Amino acid sequence: MNVQNVLEAEELNMKGFLDVEIDPSLDLFAEIEKLKKEKNAVILAHYYQEPDIQDIADYVGDSLGLAQKAAATDADIIVFAGVHFMAETAKILNPNKKVLLPDLKAGCSLSDSCPPPLFKAFKDKHPDHIVISYINCSAGIKALSDIICTSSNAQAIVESLPKDQKIIFAPDKNLGGYINKQTGRNMLLWNGACMVHEIFSREKMVKLKERHPHAKIVAHPECEESVLEVADFIGSTTQILKFTETDPCQCFIVATETGILHKMQQTNPGKTFIAAPPDNSCACNDCPHMKRNTLEKVYICMKYELPEVTMVEDLRLAAKKPIQRMLDLSKELNIGG
Ligand code: SF4
Repeated sequence: MNVQNVLEAEELNMKGFLDVEIDPSLDLFAEIEKLKKEKNAVILAHYYQEPDIQDIADYVGDSLGLAQKAAATDADIIVFAGVHFMAETAKILNPNKKVLLPDLKAGCSLSDSCPPPLFKAFKDKHPDHIVISYINCSAGIKALSDIICTSSNAQAIVESLPKDQKIIFAPDKNLGGYINKQTGRNMLLWNGACMVHEIFSREKMVKLKERHPHAKIVAHPECEESVLEVADFIGSTTQILKFTETDPCQCFIVATETGILHKMQQTNPGKTFIAAPPDNSCACNDCPHMKRNTLEKVYICMKYELPEVTMVEDLRLAAKKPIQRMLDLSKELNIGG
């Protein structure tokens, strides 16, 4: 490693990205398009990314769609505009491709709520259970799981298993509780949660609905049960988006991360979308991890091909098995993201 490489590695460790100056007159959209062609790179972006990133991406989707795209791409470089566990999933599926994440510190509170050593001890106490893990977890948790799921396919995957199969569901207790309710199962739930989806206030949502009596509340199953109880529709980000496209209602109160509103407004130009109010005074329900990525960081990571997501091979192979099982089951059950 030369001196330049050492300095870069230190900066990535400290900041999560290369903090280099960009000429403010650069047309970043044009430059990123140029880099895509030059490097045969594809940009996969989550719905919770800022609008500029969604607009420059080759594909925008939720976790299932992104994993399916990552598995199918023939690009040499995958730029993953999302959070760390998503880029890790892309790397697990594509060991020979370079996977870049615009900001290595784009983490996830839900993933962090399930540390592998503690989860292993919990799993060891229930040897007769299989483990289904929501994709929002680290590679270490994936390696301890039998099947991965997303909010798009969780219910179908659970229902595909024999009724008497004992199951541990990790890491999201709200999604697990919702699936238990929908399927009549009694899965053991890990006590994890997402800081963004736990923040919505049922009380404020009900008041908002009183002011907009014709609006429908749509909610992600990572929200708390008390919020889901007042929702007119519950589904994954993609399912919520589709619902707003096909339902005749003209106004929706949206209880998930606000990034999705950009796509909703693009696909439904005449309809009104209101972000569901959080239970705090700052009216902010953006995911701080997702929003660490910016258009500038996308450009810098493509130009310098850093930061790159890497993984030891044993861990990758162990984490791949349950992801592959999910992808195969989703194909069998005909579920897309
Ligand atoms: S919205 Fe929640 S689950 Fe998604 S990345 Fe942010 S913290 Fe994690």
